[in-house]
Amino acid sequence: MPDAPSMASFAYYDLREALAQTGCAVCRLLERDGEKFLDALLYEYSADAQTHKAFRAARGLCNRHGWDLTHHVGSALQIAVLYRASLDETLKQFNRGVSPADLLARLVKRFRGEAEAAALQFAEALEPTRPCLACEYHNKAQQAYLHTLAEHLNDSALEKAYQDSDGLCLPHTQMLLRLINDANILQKVITQQRRSWQKVFDQLTLFMDHYRAENADQMMGDEGDSWKRAVAILAGSEGLP
Ligand SMILES: [Zn+2]
Ligand SMILES: [Zn+2]
Repeated sequence: MPDAPSMASFAYYDLREALAQTGCAVCRLLERDGEKFLDALLYEYSADAQTHKAFRAARGLCNRHGWDLTHHVGSALQIAVLYRASLDETLKQFNRGVSPADLLARLVKRFRGEAEAAALQFAEALEPTRPCLACEYHNKAQQAYLHTLAEHLNDSALEKAYQDSDGLCLPHTQMLLRLINDANILQKVITQQRRSWQKVFDQLTLFMDHYRAENADQMMGDEGDSWKRAVAILAGSEGLP
C-alpha cells in the first residue's frame, strides 16, 4: 500500500515551489499527490497483499476516487484485480448476515419487526470498516502541508513565497487558521488572505463592467477568468475530496 508521503521534509520545499504558481498552493499539491497515489496504487501496489486487505475493508475507493481511477488509461486489469477483491469481501460480508432463505422469508411475512432487524443487519454487514485509501492519503498530506505553513511561515523564504502568491482557498485558510498559535504568523495569514481575496474581488468587478460593455473581448485582461478563480477560492480546486 502506498505510504503517506514523508511529508515533514518535502512539504516545505514543495510548498515554496507551489506558492510560485497560480491558485491555492495546498490545492495544487494535493491534486498532484492524489494523482501520484492512484498511479502508485495501480502500477506498484495492485498485487500487494496489504493493499488488497485495505481495499476489501474499505469496499473499494469512495465515489470520487473510484471514478478517478477509471480515468487512468491502460489500467483496466489492475482495477479489475483490486475491485474483484473488494467485491469478494462485499459478498462475503453480505452472505455472513444471511439467515437461511426460508427462515428469512418466514420472518418477513410474520414479524415486521424481525424483518427490519434482519434488514439492518444486512446494511451493517456491508458497512466499510476503514476509510477510502485515497481519502486517507489526501487527509494526511493536507495536514502535513498545513502544519508546515502554520509552523514555518516565519521562515523568510517561505514567507516571501506566500506573500508573493495568490493566497490559499477558503477551506485551506480555515484549516490553517485552526493550526496557528503564533501571533506573527496569524498576522501574516490575515494580511495575505485579505490582499489576495480583495484582488480577485476587484477583478470580478472589472470583469462584470467589461462583460457588460460592447467591446468586451478587447478589454479583457487578468480579470477574464476571475469568475473561475472565485469558484476555486471559495470551494477549493475542482474534484478535491
Ligand atoms: Zn486550497
Ligand atoms: Zn476517497
